[in-house]
Parts: sequence; structure tokens; C-alpha cells
Amino acid sequence: MDKKTVGLSDTFKGKMSPKNFTKNHIKGTKFTIAVSSAKGGVGKSTFAMNLALALKFINHEVGILDADIYGPSLPKMMSINEKPKSEDGKSLTPIKQYGIQCMSIGFLVDEETPMIWRGPMVTSAIKTFTQKVLWNNLDFLVVDMPPGTGDTQLTFAQEIKVDGVVIISTPQEIALLDVKRGIKMFDKLKVPILGLVDNMSSFEGEDGKNYNIFGEGGVERVAIDYKKKLLGKIPLNIDLRVAADSGKPLVKINPDHKISKIFIEIAKKIKESFL
Ligand code: ADP
Repeated sequence: MDKKTVGLSDTFKGKMSPKNFTKNHIKGTKFTIAVSSAKGGVGKSTFAMNLALALKFINHEVGILDADIYGPSLPKMMSINEKPKSEDGKSLTPIKQYGIQCMSIGFLVDEETPMIWRGPMVTSAIKTFTQKVLWNNLDFLVVDMPPGTGDTQLTFAQEIKVDGVVIISTPQEIALLDVKRGIKMFDKLKVPILGLVDNMSSFEGEDGKNYNIFGEGGVERVAIDYKKKLLGKIPLNIDLRVAADSGKPLVKINPDHKISKIFIEIAKKIKESFL
């Protein structure tokens, strides 16, 4: 019996290959840095807020764009209850908090309203947030992306000139699989990966011992395998969690804390990639 091979036709393959998009620079900022994670709940937003404050701490003008359309955390994590103003009815002025220019979809909707949006709406919201916000003379715009490899990431990577992405993960195997997918996506979309961050890397007990709750060294191994930098390891720490939940990020209220120092070190490494 003849064996038939099944494969994609050349026309279909052509349709699947990445197109050449014109990437627009976000006005009002020198560098756009995306903070991404393959999974939810790994500490991406906590990282993004503290990174922004760490970049501010080393004397840069910084903005945060909360592009996590489905679960915006910026209003709570930065204690912002007001709505952004629009002078001309077309553009939005960011809200300044702790010296950082902030914008979030969460400013425009009720805290408990679920964002049941389809792809095209997400795409148009991202366009508004990247083209209609009056960022003022920023060195760095930190973008808190939604988790995964969906519409927002694609819209961003294809249409916006993202200067670099930081990928956050916890070290357990199930999260690492998705990290590998994330790395491949950004490599394919030609977005430079600044490095990986291992969050919740270990927990220091009251006995002073370190416990590797989610396993050990997983993110570092992926970084080595994929020839990416490991920017830092952030342990599980109650002060970081309490600060984030109370709307006053740890780097803001206690820059001398050992965890804040890790964020500041990561901020310096990121700055060195550009300046
Ligand atoms: P994501 O944006 O990935 O969904 P969040 O930043 O919202 O995750 O973090 C989820 C929860 O974990 C928050 O309550 C946050 O305070 C907490 N958290 C994040 N990183 C740490 C850490 N290193 N130590 C302790 N708690 C953390």
C-alpha cells in the first residue's frame, strides 16, 4: 500500500510565516521594556512595579503601562483611585504616583468588572494605550503584559518597538515549559530578551534555612539552555507580598530591604543593556 505523507501546503506555510510589521516607537519614552510571564500568578506585576521603582531609585524618569487587559493590578498595587484626565478628549494623561507615570486599563473600568473582550477589542485597547497616552520624557516605560502568548503579546511585539523583554517565572517544571514557549515566541518576533528572573526562588524559614518550595535552579537551567541571561533570583518574602497588597511597593517604602536591593541590582543590569 502506498504511504501518504501529510503536511502543510506551501501556500498555507506562507500564510503562517511572520509578516514584516512596521514597529512604532511609543512617543515620549526612550526605551520600552516589557515584563512578561508564561503563567499567571508568578509575580509578574509585583516585579513590574518594583522594577519601575528601582529604575526610579537609580535616577531615571519611569512610566508603567499596565497592559494586563484581563487582570489589571496597577491601580491596587500603586494605590491609585482616580481616573486619568483627557485635555483634548483624544489623549490620556498618565497619573503620577510615587514619582512614576502610570496608565492602566483598570483606571477606566470598575475593579470587579470582568474584561470579557475578544481579540480585536484587545488589539484596539492596546493601540489606544500605546498611541494615545501622553508619556512625558521617560527614560524607561515598563509594560506589565498579560500572561501567556496571546493577542496582547502579538499586537505589542508586531506593532510596537519593544526594546527588550524580561521573562518572569517560578522555578517549578510546569511553569518552565511555558517559559520555553515564551522565549521561542519573543525570539521568533525578534524582540530582544534582556533576561529571565527566577521569582519565589526559595523561602527562608525562621530557622534561617532556605527551602526550595518550587524546586531549585530551574529558571537558571532554562537560561543556560537557551543562552539567555539570568537577571536575578527573588526569594519568597512576606514583606514583598504585604507591601504589594497594601499598594506601597517594597522598593518605594524600604529601598534598603534585602529584597529591594535585588530589584535595584536587576534595574542596574537592565539600564546597562541600554545606556
Ligand atoms: P502575576 O502578575 O504574575 O499574576 P502578582 O504579581 O499579582 O502575579 O503576584 C501574585 C501574588 O504573589 C501577589 O499577592 C504578590 O504579592 C505575591 N508575590 C509575588 N512575588 C512574591 C515573592 N517573591 N514573595 C512573596 N510574595 C510574592
